[in-house]
Amino acid sequence: MIDDPETLTGVVLNGAHGIYDVHTDNGILRCTLRGKLKKAFAQSQSTKSVGKMRPRYDKMFTAPRTQRMERREASIAALPVRLSVGDYVKLRQLDTKTGMIEEILPRQSVLSRKDAASKDNRAIEQTMLANLDQVVLVFATTQPEPHFGMLDRYLAICESAEIHPLLCLNKVDLPHDKRVEEAAALYSGLGYTVLWTSPKTGEGIDTLHAHLKEHTSLFSGPSGVGKSSLVNALEPGMAIRTGLISDATGKGRHTTTGSQLYPLSGGGWLADSAGIRALAMWNIPPEDLARCFVEFRPYLGECIYSDCMHIEEEGCAIRQAVEDGIINERRYTSYVRLVTGEER
Ligand code: GDP
Ligand code: ZN
Repeated sequence: MIDDPETLTGVVLNGAHGIYDVHTDNGILRCTLRGKLKKAFAQSQSTKSVGKMRPRYDKMFTAPRTQRMERREASIAALPVRLSVGDYVKLRQLDTKTGMIEEILPRQSVLSRKDAASKDNRAIEQTMLANLDQVVLVFATTQPEPHFGMLDRYLAICESAEIHPLLCLNKVDLPHDKRVEEAAALYSGLGYTVLWTSPKTGEGIDTLHAHLKEHTSLFSGPSGVGKSSLVNALEPGMAIRTGLISDATGKGRHTTTGSQLYPLSGGGWLADSAGIRALAMWNIPPEDLARCFVEFRPYLGECIYSDCMHIEEEGCAIRQAVEDGIINERRYTSYVRLVTGEER
């Protein structure tokens, strides 16, 4: 035992049955929860869940008891209060390998998954990952040809979930069509960061590494674009750990439903395939979709009909901006496909 217990801040990497691995400056510590926190979790499990929300956990845990109860009643707010992978916590180190979690720090974001299987058939929202703040969207410049409609869908998801997207155009060593350059210019013009990478030649890997530092990120993109090669170029062996490629036994950790995080040696954390699947299933309500196309924002509220979905309505400011060549036509097509449910 250390005589003078130290309070540390850390990130929950994984957890099951009340035992959590927490990444701290003093290494990974196996932690349990302080009794008071456990009790709060037990209460919260019985509350119903509604869509996405970002409760302020800091207030819930520091407020006096009566106030805490009021809060719960006032806003069904106490939704998934359970400690989640990705949560930042304060903990007390007990010895070189263990600790006790004392406090959950406020969450910036919550990625959750709806589970159909509850007793009353109501979907239960399960927090998959807290504080995910970056998605690396990987597309190949060629082989396979980039699917920009899919990229637009992922960008919209990132906007909806308020997660920073990083666009990674991979296999830059291969000769590719000039429309890839044009697309890259379009997306940078919209304010998105575009990186050109190749794990084959090493191009862009250091830059990518630098962008992952201090962030909780996940890699997403179609199969064959080079996600596992990229992740392995960042950190050898990481592709199997994060489930980007399955291990030879086919067993590994794929039986678990919860997400896990893996620390990168250069700083930052990577989420595994469970987190990736949860992001892919993110559902944007159709009426929110226009806002998720950043270049549409200046025109929102300018259409004749206040409930305009910007598809075929007269007097639509967004359609006008497309006609005027201000909004890119292909981006608009992506929007229409998503809003009509043609591509989900
Ligand atoms: P994933 O399905 O997205 O994880 O893609 P993989 O990492 O498995 O890569 C798919 C194929 O593309 C493999 O044959 C890789 O060797 C190849 N590949 C990956 N990155 C590059 C690259 O930068 N350049 C070239 N030429 N091939 C690459
Ligand atoms: Zn409109």
